[in-house]
Amino acid sequence: MALKAGFCFGVKRAIDMARATLDSKEGPIYSLGPLIHNPQVVSCLARMGLKEINDLGEIKEGTLVIRSHGVGPDLLETAREKGLEIVDATCPNVRRAQDLARELSRENIQVVVVGDKEHPEVQGIIGWTCGKAMVAENPEEAAELTAAGPIGVVAQTTQPQENFDAVVDILRKTGAEVRVCNTICNATAERQKAALDLARQVDVMVVVGGKNSANTRKLASLCHASGTRTYHIEEAGQMDPAWFRGVKVAGLTAGASTPDWIIEEVMRRMSEFEEINSSEEVNNEEVNNIEEGMKDAVEVKAVRHGEIVTGTVVHVGLDEVMVDVGAKSEGIIPARELSCCEVTSIQDVVKVGDEIEVYVLKAEDNEGKLILSKEKADAEKAWVKLEEALNTQEPVQGTVREVVKGGLLVDVGVRAFLPASLVDRGYVEDLSKYLGQVISTRVIELNRGRKKVILSRKAVLEEEYARLREELLANLQENQVVKGIVRRLTQFGAFVDIGGVDGLLHISEMSWHRINHPSEVVNVGDEIEVMVLKIDRENEKISLGLKQVLPNPWDTVAEKYPVGSIVQAKVVRLAPFGAFVQLEPGVEGLVHISHLAERHVAKPDEVVTEGEEVNVKVLSVDPAEKRIRLSIREVAREKQTREFQDYSHNKPQENSDVVTIGDMVGDLFDKKDND
Ligand code: SF4
Repeated sequence: MALKAGFCFGVKRAIDMARATLDSKEGPIYSLGPLIHNPQVVSCLARMGLKEINDLGEIKEGTLVIRSHGVGPDLLETAREKGLEIVDATCPNVRRAQDLARELSRENIQVVVVGDKEHPEVQGIIGWTCGKAMVAENPEEAAELTAAGPIGVVAQTTQPQENFDAVVDILRKTGAEVRVCNTICNATAERQKAALDLARQVDVMVVVGGKNSANTRKLASLCHASGTRTYHIEEAGQMDPAWFRGVKVAGLTAGASTPDWIIEEVMRRMSEFEEINSSEEVNNEEVNNIEEGMKDAVEVKAVRHGEIVTGTVVHVGLDEVMVDVGAKSEGIIPARELSCCEVTSIQDVVKVGDEIEVYVLKAEDNEGKLILSKEKADAEKAWVKLEEALNTQEPVQGTVREVVKGGLLVDVGVRAFLPASLVDRGYVEDLSKYLGQVISTRVIELNRGRKKVILSRKAVLEEEYARLREELLANLQENQVVKGIVRRLTQFGAFVDIGGVDGLLHISEMSWHRINHPSEVVNVGDEIEVMVLKIDRENEKISLGLKQVLPNPWDTVAEKYPVGSIVQAKVVRLAPFGAFVQLEPGVEGLVHISHLAERHVAKPDEVVTEGEEVNVKVLSVDPAEKRIRLSIREVAREKQTREFQDYSHNKPQENSDVVTIGDMVGDLFDKKDND
């Protein structure tokens, strides 16, 4: 027996919904076309009261069950206008294909459906694109299609993957932008793979299912294509014992719309055929193979309440997740059973293809419902892991799910509390930035009875910081230039993180000119380059310099301020012996008190004040000692000399050819007074 065979989730769901409707509703109940492609099941449902119609025009009132293939929006609208009550049993996988096609179409993307254009599922999908979608059944048909803009591809859910891929390849070759939405249902793919695997190992294959069922026909054609003699039957009575004559091993599979009771009946009849069991060519071991195979199929179905089993996510819906746990039917995880914390989007927790462990909340009943819980399976494992982590102090990973009063709720398999003060090494203003992040934490308190887990991320960060610090201190060299981020400012400097370790950038090492506060040069969060000035490995202290990586203005003072030049400067400080003036940021020179004026000056403030702009003459420059001697007096003298020269050159010679020095000085003083 193929490991995957018989009813899929979508078909079983449709039958369940139809039966529940038949049990609970008054009045006529209809399905548009056969509810599933299996004549036996359809006639059973017909006996229970489900009436099959081919057109809505045939009915006036009652309840309409939409089958798993789904329908287009126009038909739903017409049914509503007629006043029909609708029970929508569209398979969630088909609904996803419809939704994607509708969204693509709304974005003006040309939809191409890979599938059978006559199939009701494909017709329904086209309906959700307002009839605009094109259909390609195979690569040859795809090659005939033309589209003006981008193309979006969706698949009929029962399409073989290879055909879908081949069509996509052809569409891509047209040069158009192709957006691929793989809507192939896992149930179909799995059943096809299992049937093919089995067909390759047996002498004859029996495929059970409706002749009108596309997926059953596909199973039969795949088995046949494998080279194994294959029979497609609808029920046990159609088998001929002659098929099994001389056969050592026979295989059995069934379409997604074939009920268990038909499969079991076929299986029973196959095992009864004397030709198989008594064949001279079949030894006991081979008989056992067949029986074991059948038993396996039964064992695969047995999942018991309270068990934890591993499964693969096959569908992620809006409020539930379907998981294949190897049972006869896919199990359902309701959204509330996914995580210990509130889940905003199921896709954040699981995605199709994930292998997860689940706890069996409700084993399969007669109706085939298998209810699972990921939360409980995670919790069982988590408590063991957390206890171990508490003992070993190993970090545990968790996802931040909620910001609550005083901290964060972290999903570590169970709900754990991370107090705000233990979230980071320093104070965190906005805890919401951690939402959704996977963080590493240490368990600091655990009480399983009270379901209490307290975590500390700070402990892990401190340890990491200590390790980095040790590593950095070992490798760091003085005069090395490193990158860092300014973490904190104080009156005396800034602390700069240079890769896990904070070094001190003293205010005096920030700039070549005097500054009053570190914020004049750097801000918290700035990324800067600094030079390592000193490393005290014993006390784990690092001194950094910023000005050392900046151009030194003293390197060019000799060229910029040659001796004898007169430049403008600003008085920045007064001292008893003179005034310090700034030529440019980082370059200060001294005007000695004897050079402040012609006359005797007792205190510098008799002549200049702080902040005043003055002209100074450069007397000497010593870049190595960072010294510049300046003079205001010399500027005044030069000015007087110039004025004197101007005067002597321009003075009119009125009454005498002889002008005395006294005349000239008198004139100069007169002029000065007037000035
Ligand atoms: S084969 Fe897949 S898509 Fe089709 S009804 Fe079954 S579960 Fe739904």
